[in-house]
Amino acid sequence: SGPNDCPVDSEQLGQATWTFLHTMAAYYPERPSPSQMESMRTFLSTFSQFYPCWYCADAFREDMEINPPQVASRRKLSQWLCERHNVVNVRLGKGVFDCAKVDERWRDGPADGRCD
Ligand code: FAD
Repeated sequence: SGPNDCPVDSEQLGQATWTFLHTMAAYYPERPSPSQMESMRTFLSTFSQFYPCWYCADAFREDMEINPPQVASRRKLSQWLCERHNVVNVRLGKGVFDCAKVDERWRDGPADGRCD
């Protein structure tokens, strides 16, 4: 929506932000140190205060209170984030993403090698 030198709308912001968040989770350590786990918790809490779609941020903070970040491993963080994104998908009437495919989507690419 709009030429690409225009400020982003909440859809473009969402796509760019999910790309960043899922990719960050896909490359999070398999065995994070206690300090890396604490930093990730802090990052997510800070992110949810300043994400510049306010109603999105409010809903994300509420969801995180019920479902606190799982920062113990790359796999746990990736799955947790996939579930959080699905909560938003359902709220918006979009299809639910199969979280078994999160590494294929955000890290490994499809088996046919077309993304290599
Ligand atoms: P997006 O939802 O942006 O997804 C991008 C790509 O991610 C998809 O093409 C798909 O390949 C992949 N994907 C989809 N689901 C998953 C999943 N569960 N796990 C891993 N990968 C997946 N918009 C609102 O209108 N109201 C809100 O309350 C709201 N809250 C948001 C909260 C956050 C934290 C963020 C980051 C965004 C929020 N958005 C919200 C924006 C919204 O989620 C979408 O980004 C936007 O509507 C564009 O949707 P899209 O269909 O292009 O794909």
